[in-house]
Amino acid sequence: MITIAAPREPEPETRVALVPETVMALTRAGHRVLIETAAGIAAGHSDEDYRKAGADVVDGIPLAEVSILTHVTPLPASAISRLGEGAVTIGLMAPFTDERIAALTAARVTALACEKIPRTSRAQAMDVLSSQALAAGYRCVLEAAIRLPRFFPLAMTAAGTVPPAKVVVLGIGVAGLQAIATAKRLGATVAANDIRPSSAEEARSVGATFIDVGLDSAEGTGKGGYARSLGADAASRQQQALAPHIADADVLITTAGVPGKAAPRLATSDMIAAMRPGSVVVDMLAASGGNVEGSVAGSDVQLPSARGQGHITIVGLDTPPAQLAADASRLYAKNMQNMINLLIVDNEVQVDFDDDILAGAAITHQGSSRLEEPSPASTPPKGDAQ
Ligand code: NAD
Repeated sequence: MITIAAPREPEPETRVALVPETVMALTRAGHRVLIETAAGIAAGHSDEDYRKAGADVVDGIPLAEVSILTHVTPLPASAISRLGEGAVTIGLMAPFTDERIAALTAARVTALACEKIPRTSRAQAMDVLSSQALAAGYRCVLEAAIRLPRFFPLAMTAAGTVPPAKVVVLGIGVAGLQAIATAKRLGATVAANDIRPSSAEEARSVGATFIDVGLDSAEGTGKGGYARSLGADAASRQQQALAPHIADADVLITTAGVPGKAAPRLATSDMIAAMRPGSVVVDMLAASGGNVEGSVAGSDVQLPSARGQGHITIVGLDTPPAQLAADASRLYAKNMQNMINLLIVDNEVQVDFDDDILAGAAITHQGSSRLEEPSPASTPPKGDAQ
């Protein structure tokens, strides 16, 4: 019998790697599932819910007995060292520090890092980055809407007409597309920019107008369909072209990332100060260097407006999917279930490196690091982000 487990995540994380629905599917398939006491409380699942789904709820996971350990936040070295040789761990693991890799190789476990899952059509069902970015992009808009002293939609009433809010979204990846779609659903007008050539069409497909900043497609295109860091000259041209759009917006939402790099700086304090008093900026990447100068992860910062009395609020998000613990966990758990299904063949755990998803995700195996292996993720992503 294969033993699969999910721990209680350390605070302030609110998500859980397995939810009762996925536990039920796993136990019905004949596997033993261990859930740590209170692991699902913040995501809305009691210990009793897990027991009803067939899990054993335990005070501490007996890590040496576990074949597959699912988790959300990277495991501490103290937990890694208690895993049995050959165990498989699946979860978010970045940053890939030397200490983390050393702990995983010393324990001789196979570590599957969700950040390394290839962005291919086949891998979409396991794509944690996408499922969590969906939650993050949605959250960005709600954070802005609740702080903006204005409506998002057009309102034509007997008491007068209220124009729709103007929203600018920078970064049109999975989170940015979800932010655009959410702002549109709330009735705002949305303009967006990204440096990947395909992003203009993707933005239009969810109802935004595209802000063309006049870059060559080669300037923004990196490996595997991701963006690359812009050179100083291109970055400054982009800022100049974006400045009037940002100044005219009621809301700026930034979701721009470059894998393995600090978040690109898209808006300076001067660009933000040029917005009207009362405007709101949400920086989804505040914890990774920040797209917006002056943003602080987990805090609101007030910047005086250069256009009159009053200020602009800069909201720095910190792990935004954790603010939607129930649905972010539901999606995360389904990603875990699909990864587990890939691993189990004839009722045995088999890590088959002919499978591009497992080969791409594995960062350690049998006591060695695989970080330097050429990643299947470097092939261009097929299909749309959504
Ligand atoms: P990400 O989180 O790495 O970055 C978010 C967005 O920021 C990206 O669209 C990127 O181009 C953009 N960006 C980076 N630097 C920028 C800058 N200076 N200015 C403006 N925008 C900038 O991206 P992601 O959401 O993880 O998606 C990455 C890629 O993977 C995209 O091409 C996406 O369509 C693709 N994808 C494909 C699949 C699939 O095929 N199944 C699934 C998910 C994502």
